[in-house]
Amino acid sequence: MAKNTNNRIPVKWVRDKAKAAYEKKSHCFICEATQDLELHHLHSVTILLQTWAQQKGYDISTDDGILAVRDEFIAEHHQELYEQVYTLCNKHHVALHGVYGKAPQPGSESKQARWIGIQREKFLNGGMVIPKTSSGSFFSEFI
Ligand SMILES: [Zn+2]
Ligand SMILES: [Zn+2]
Repeated sequence: MAKNTNNRIPVKWVRDKAKAAYEKKSHCFICEATQDLELHHLHSVTILLQTWAQQKGYDISTDDGILAVRDEFIAEHHQELYEQVYTLCNKHHVALHGVYGKAPQPGSESKQARWIGIQREKFLNGGMVIPKTSSGSFFSEFI
């Protein structure tokens, strides 16, 4: 029986282990929604892991391979895994990855943070903006 199958992508093993220590906030950073919250890493964990394993010469192509070095990876990436993260609702999380791709490019972290800040401002301002269109056109239809 072959035991050393690689049924899961390596990054999943890291996510599972690190998840316990994640500090997910109680609401979306942008719109304050409290439902369907997800954690976004400014640094793509997939890319971090691949680059790191390559530099160290680790083979993470098997489950055994990734499990042997998982703790070491997490220990060396506390900043990226736990600090440089945002809690977002699913809607805003999907929107962000729509802009920056499934695995955002290394170097795009500050751009992502700025994008998140802009969406936040839009949300805050949006609460006070009075839609211009309706009342005028509404009455014009009935006059
Ligand atoms: Zn949101
Ligand atoms: Zn994300």
